[in-house]
Amino acid sequence: MTSSQSAIALTATQAAWLAELGIDRKLLATLADTSALFTSARIAPGAGVTPVNVPSSGQETSASKRTDAAVGSPPMHRAPVQSVAQKLAATQPVDASPVQPVRRVDLPADLALLAQTVAGCQACGLHAGRHQTVFGDGQTSAPHWMIIGEAPGDHDDHLGLPFQGKAGELLSTMLAAAGILPQASVFYTNLLKCRPKGGRTPRADEIQACLPYLQQQIALVRPSGLLVLGWQAAQALVGQRASLDQLRGQVHRYTDRGVDIPMVVTHHPASLLLRGQYKAAAWQDLHLARAALAA
Ligand code: SF4
Repeated sequence: MTSSQSAIALTATQAAWLAELGIDRKLLATLADTSALFTSARIAPGAGVTPVNVPSSGQETSASKRTDAAVGSPPMHRAPVQSVAQKLAATQPVDASPVQPVRRVDLPADLALLAQTVAGCQACGLHAGRHQTVFGDGQTSAPHWMIIGEAPGDHDDHLGLPFQGKAGELLSTMLAAAGILPQASVFYTNLLKCRPKGGRTPRADEIQACLPYLQQQIALVRPSGLLVLGWQAAQALVGQRASLDQLRGQVHRYTDRGVDIPMVVTHHPASLLLRGQYKAAAWQDLHLARAALAA
């Protein structure tokens, strides 16, 4: 028995999964220090892009045009009113502004222009907390797979690239172990293009606001198949309010504007880092995805 096995109790399934990946729990815990093992020749779609501001109607102007009704009032009456307003403003989350759903019909039919539009998007309050939008990364023309997560992580938000950090490293390892990489070409993106502050769960209205960007990406990139990671992205693309367990283990069809491609959903690698008991299911899903594209 090795020292790592003696330190961590593993089920037979977990041990088999980790052995399949060529890692043990000790290595998993140090993935942050091993990113060089998983570097890939990804492109940065947002590089060199000039952000285009797309202000929501009514935002900003309502605040900037507001007149101070208390002008001319004695200072002793005005001070308490301002203090209350400031306190209320301070209690509002920075991403709580009204959502203005993106209209698919308004989106450009060119991927670079779509990236510019996303870079300037303020359609939902998530724009207030982002460092930058995360549009996508990888082969932009007819890749084998488009891999879709839920929302940018902390590293993604800073780098402008999806699937960075430990979750991205585990994803790369899983794809290689399942025989999908390096043979297959991949475009990586997320359901949401901005990171929710603190990594909170995105709200339904935020998902609905951002979904047209993803739909337009799929239409323009034209992948052969979709691999969807996490229950929120799965629900949005399958179009069913169901648990991940109900949605995984089968091949769905994604159909939209002439696109008709297989779609497999599975656990998000960030979830697998916390819940190792799902790795066997993810392993099965990746093999299902590989078989779906080979069929
Ligand atoms: Fe726009 Fe999507 Fe970012 Fe919201 S999450 S501001 S809809 S790009």
